[in-house]
Amino acid sequence: MKIENEDALDNLVICHKCHTLHKEITIQDGSKACCRECGTVLYRYDSRLAEHGLALSIAALIFFAVANFFPLVKIELLGHEQFITIPKTFMSLFDSGFYIVGLICSFLIFIFPLMIFSIYSVVFLLLKLRIGEKLSKELLILLSHITPWSMSDIFLISVLVALVKLIGYAQIHMGIAFWALIAFVLLDLYVTRTIHVSEIWMLRKRVFLKENNVQEKSE
Ligand SMILES: [Zn+2]
Repeated sequence: MKIENEDALDNLVICHKCHTLHKEITIQDGSKACCRECGTVLYRYDSRLAEHGLALSIAALIFFAVANFFPLVKIELLGHEQFITIPKTFMSLFDSGFYIVGLICSFLIFIFPLMIFSIYSVVFLLLKLRIGEKLSKELLILLSHITPWSMSDIFLISVLVALVKLIGYAQIHMGIAFWALIAFVLLDLYVTRTIHVSEIWMLRKRVFLKENNVQEKSE
């Protein structure tokens, strides 16, 4: 396959599993395009992707806020009660003088997950309103850089391991934030598994291609 210029690359899709190049074709609403060699899903076409994505990311942000503002667990030990919240976990690292570890933790379990779902919400909103061609491009590039660094799921598993180890020594009560964190992690997994960043790029291309065509016709 001969590539004439950089724009021609926009019409090609690479299979993530076997790295075969495919030409992007228009498919029907609700259907998906699969790799000819290995059968992996290359892309889907969902005409309501912006609405679905926006609803899912706002729901994730609400669960994230609940998970962070309310107590995660209440630990009772020898008549002494202690509430633990997510910000408290990394703030206590700062208090103990572990500044670098505290900083890394705050980015992995707080700042990056918050940024990712804020970016998703803004991008889907821009695409729904058909504005911000340049801004949506920059946000999508930023999103692909930070997505691998969100570690809420690993944090949840480490909390579960710590709780199992504490069961024999102290009385543990799960707080509302614990259930909100589980809901957030499930939504996070669902969104990252079902909506590929490449599908948002395709949606962006469709939205602004149509918009530009309409503008050209009216001029
Ligand atoms: Zn393949």
